[in-house]
Amino acid sequence: MNEGVKKIIAKSLCSLGGDAALRTINKHKVLVLTYHGVYRRSQAPIPLFTHLSDDLFRWQLQFLKDHYHILSMTEFVARLKAGADFPERSALITFDDGFRNNYDVAFPVLKELGVPATIFLTVDFIGKLKMLWFDKLFLLLKRYLRTGTSLGQIHHQLVEQKEVTNLHDLYEVATALYKTMSDAEKNERLDALTAESDLSEDPLAAQFMLMSWENVTEMFKSGLVDFGVHTATHRILRGLVAEEYSREIDVPRKTLSKRLGREVSTFSYPNGIPDRDFFTEHEDYLKRCGYSCAFSTRVALNDMTTGGRYRLNRIAIGNDLTSDRHLFPLRIAGLAAAGRKEC
Ligand SMILES: [Zn+2]
Repeated sequence: MNEGVKKIIAKSLCSLGGDAALRTINKHKVLVLTYHGVYRRSQAPIPLFTHLSDDLFRWQLQFLKDHYHILSMTEFVARLKAGADFPERSALITFDDGFRNNYDVAFPVLKELGVPATIFLTVDFIGKLKMLWFDKLFLLLKRYLRTGTSLGQIHHQLVEQKEVTNLHDLYEVATALYKTMSDAEKNERLDALTAESDLSEDPLAAQFMLMSWENVTEMFKSGLVDFGVHTATHRILRGLVAEEYSREIDVPRKTLSKRLGREVSTFSYPNGIPDRDFFTEHEDYLKRCGYSCAFSTRVALNDMTTGGRYRLNRIAIGNDLTSDRHLFPLRIAGLAAAGRKEC
């Protein structure tokens, strides 16, 4: 089914009250949304699923305020621990990674509308002007297509063999290839390529940087934004050996707790597909560390009476059909269209 047809069907369903009916049917389930970055529409748009424009973000928050009971993470965790009921149509707003634009662009919108949210930080990269590997790769591919700059191994493995010349498609193929590599190999290759090109010249580079500790502190003090852990360096848990669990899971919780002056007890899994990117042994370890719950990327609402606390479902929203003004209400009400696997 193409995008146009999907939009027409979604518009018809909404005009018939389909989204309202779904919200009523699923009123006892808890909605958890996942965002990543938010950029100003007045700046250069970011052609990636993971970055959403501020006008769409504002519209979605207003929709959530109008139709859901938005919880803070503190209230969510308290109810979860107590085994208490959740208000009808409860919703929780989360961000993964810790992009600087969460502070620059999303935070003012959250304040304007008085909406609480939680940001899961890649803790070791905070305050270091770091970019995550997939964003670095995006800038390298963009540069390659613009200037013909050599991309070394990427060039040989992707461009010549696949003959992909469109940035979006090239990025999709490249991320899939990189996800098959070990973290060490992936980082080594990207660091070598980054050293050859000055990515900071790209206007998107600033958008892809992660936030500072000052940003974290200011948002936390506002009482509107809470924080959780998204590992130390964005490692997918399935790739860790047991000796690395502490460094990626336990230590960042302690670091963040110390920074905030309060125990941190929430975690989100990079990549996050249950039984593929993490397993029950990881859930057990999180529990032993003192985490009270953890969030996956499985696209579904949460039935709080049956679901596991360490594999909570979330619905990712981004810069594609998931933000269409008719597909968004249907998707978050429980009509989970094709799931995304972005991290
Ligand atoms: Zn992530």
